[in-house]
Amino acid sequence: MPPRRPAAPQPAPTAPTPIVRFADVLGQERAIAHLRRGFEGGRLAHAFVFTGPAGVGKRTVARALATGVHCDAAPFTACGACNACRTIAAGTHPDVRFVAGPLEGKRDISIEQVRDLQRELGFRSLSRHPKVGIIDDAHLLTAQAQNALLKTLEEPSGDSVLVLVAIQQSALLPTILSRCQRVSFGPLPTADVAAILERHGRSAAEARVLAAYANGSPGVALTLDPEFFGRRRRELIAALAGLRGAGFKKLTDFAQTLAGEEKDPTAVLAVIASWHRDLMRRAVLGADAELQNADLADAVGAPDVARSLRNLETTYATMRALRQNANRNLTLVQMLMRLE
Ligand SMILES: [Zn+2]
Repeated sequence: MPPRRPAAPQPAPTAPTPIVRFADVLGQERAIAHLRRGFEGGRLAHAFVFTGPAGVGKRTVARALATGVHCDAAPFTACGACNACRTIAAGTHPDVRFVAGPLEGKRDISIEQVRDLQRELGFRSLSRHPKVGIIDDAHLLTAQAQNALLKTLEEPSGDSVLVLVAIQQSALLPTILSRCQRVSFGPLPTADVAAILERHGRSAAEARVLAAYANGSPGVALTLDPEFFGRRRRELIAALAGLRGAGFKKLTDFAQTLAGEEKDPTAVLAVIASWHRDLMRRAVLGADAELQNADLADAVGAPDVARSLRNLETTYATMRALRQNANRNLTLVQMLMRLE
């Protein structure tokens, strides 16, 4: 019989987040259908690893699962209004525990954090539902913390569900992975990313552009600066197009502008690379090609696959050089001289 929870003080509630239900998750239908089958069949696994790129909804789905497991009004889908739904969102539900990544100022999730979670999961559930533990950024668990976690995975208490949310499966011990059901999350279609951005208050035009630069990750898209990817991106691409055949003075001036750009030069180069990629796609696929800079499609000139490919190579080489701390100004001048 698991120990009764002591009347000890409740853990401090984490910052409240909105109530998350599966119906609010865009995309990831396959992962959700998998969880639904397990839940409805009464054979939900005791441990899961959710893996996939950052910002594609793994954490959101883990929260929706905790809510769906505990909501009596609407099992699995969650009603979004009952006490369980509200307290899980607030981080105060006694049977749902989150480890929200490393403690402040730390780089890893420590063995102490895992032991705290294990102690919580070891208490008898106060509801008639399984206790749920979620470890965010589980790829940051130290080796000792993972070894401690093995104990829970080897002897599941019968009444708990553990969800490890990780961007890198390879950071987890094979012994952990073999004891967890793996659910993989892929990048979202650009249109879904744009729809999520609109829900977060971006205009339709902004959402379209930001989504095109987010590699299928709404989480990444939400961190992108609309001003840079809107107005500044259009200016950069227009200036770049105007440089063809320009003299040394004009090139060095523009290199200086790029070097002085407030944005990390990688963001500037990502825009330049995307433009050459668009030109190449248009050259290969014709007018139907889906472009990252769809709003600038009219500016695409005569198709030349080989030239676009060379320009793309030049841009990537510049990115590599800057990552290796090459002189910024000089490297950018060299790039502009090479671009055709
Ligand atoms: Zn509910």
